[in-house]
Amino acid sequence: MTLQIFCTLLRNAFLIPVPIAAYHAAMAKLYFNYSTMNAGKSTVLLQASHNYRERGMQTYLLTAQLDRRAGEGRIASRIGISDKADTFDSASNLLEMLKTRLSAGPLACVFIDEAQFLNEDQVWQLARAVDDLKVPVMCYGLRVDFQGKLFPGSAALLALADEMREVRTICHCGKKATMVVRQDEHGTVLKDGAQVQIGGNETYVSLCRRHWREAMGDCP
Ligand SMILES: [Zn+2]
Repeated sequence: MTLQIFCTLLRNAFLIPVPIAAYHAAMAKLYFNYSTMNAGKSTVLLQASHNYRERGMQTYLLTAQLDRRAGEGRIASRIGISDKADTFDSASNLLEMLKTRLSAGPLACVFIDEAQFLNEDQVWQLARAVDDLKVPVMCYGLRVDFQGKLFPGSAALLALADEMREVRTICHCGKKATMVVRQDEHGTVLKDGAQVQIGGNETYVSLCRRHWREAMGDCP
């Protein structure tokens, strides 16, 4: 029996936990949790962060600066829970931000909301943080915009993430919703416009692809 196997048996026998640092170094991955609008991404993020903190581990939360629904530097869920977060914009160097944060103490996990607003360079910065700083990074974001096109951050995450998970919600017909339509204040579906629109009276409705096509006028 090698010393390594003996130590593993001993550890299992006495339930000696593997040191947290060693565990995370082995497990650090870049995750992309994607969905359409109103699927509860922020709720899932806040719950996951809470699970770490409940066990005495530190987490670091980041969200896009242009999403001010919850106020500057907060992640809020529609079911009423929220937590403070640092913010990033298109000029932020996320690798440097994470290095600075890690110099203040160990992190069990980094959580990033509104990850669709990351640019490709920033997703690479996160990938380097996972590989080189050995910190797990969980990104939460929309996959496609109201025209059915990938957001830049989501395209890069689909390319680079180690693991992807879908946060699901349903269309009014009961099928899984994967698309979203943008509506004006009268409920008229908007087919054109900027990918990111902040502060207007638009609302978003998540639909399955067939009902999204119907709403966009793509009928057989
Ligand atoms: Zn449907």
